[in-house]
Order: sequence, then structure tokens, then C-alpha cells
Amino acid sequence: MRYTLGMIRTGIGFDSHRLAEGRRLVLGGVEIPHGRGLLGHSDADALAHALCDALLGAAAAGDIGQHFPDTDPQWKGADSMTLLVRVTALLREAGWRIVNTDATVMAEAPKLAPHVPAMRARLAEAMGLDVSRVSVKAKTNEGMDAVGRGEGISVMAIATIGKNATAEENT
Ligand code: MG
Repeated sequence: MRYTLGMIRTGIGFDSHRLAEGRRLVLGGVEIPHGRGLLGHSDADALAHALCDALLGAAAAGDIGQHFPDTDPQWKGADSMTLLVRVTALLREAGWRIVNTDATVMAEAPKLAPHVPAMRARLAEAMGLDVSRVSVKAKTNEGMDAVGRGEGISVMAIATIGKNATAEENT
């Protein structure tokens, strides 16, 4: 007998990028005025990248480096919202729906709290979710380690996804 059961999966993601002169600072698809920006092949949006990895991890579908290799010129300077839209589509094709996401951005400067509502809105839009399902939190590293010295920004993310599944798929 085949019947459906709710199947829930959770994934984690982490990303960090160095801060460098002459770069735009983009986090969660929002450009934030700051003297320096994150260094990377794409726009180096560490928040979007950590979320992509959390979503891919939940689906056991590899990681961001595998899907969007930084050796591929296609992703040079890429808007990471495009990557998040693609990851969302990849999960949907496999029958998954995103339940919710959460993230903590660790940055000594600038102050990110005023930008959190805009980040949540952009990320929610990219993932096709109501903003109530998308959480972003920001904190400093209390002056400790490289993040605390302002050398870079790190992000931790978690995602929960779900789908209906047959009993066989659930074993
Ligand atoms: Mg990255």
C-alpha cells in the first residue's frame, strides 16, 4: 500500500568572505553603504551563499561550489539572488517546499540591523516565500578573531524543507 507522509529535512550552511577596498558590500541581495565590500568571484553575498548551502544540504543535493563553480565565468560578478532563485527551483523540481530559513550574520561593521528588513524581503522574494518564513539576525564577534578585527564577514544559516512522500521514500 502506498500512502503519503510528511517528510521534513533540515540543512546547515556557512560562508565567509574577506572585506576588501573597492568592492560593493552586498548581503541578502541588499547593497549596504560601507567603505569596503566582500571579495569573491560573484558579488560575494555571503548571506545568500550560506542560505543556498543550507537549502542544498537539506535536500542532500550537493553544495554551492558544485552547482556554481567559481571557475565558471558565467558566475563572475553574478548577482547571488540568481543563485538562490536557481537553488529554490532545483528543490521545487525535486518536490521540496521551503518551510523556513534562519541566518546569523557576523560582522563587526557596519551596523546591519537597519538593513535586516530589506534583506528578509529580498531573500523571501528570491525563495518565493512569505517574509514571515525568512529570518535574518546580525551580531558582532565582540572584537575576537578575524571577523572581530573587521577582516571579513561570516554567516551561518539553517533551512527546513518538506514534501509529501510515499512510505517507501520515507524509509
Ligand atoms: Mg561565498
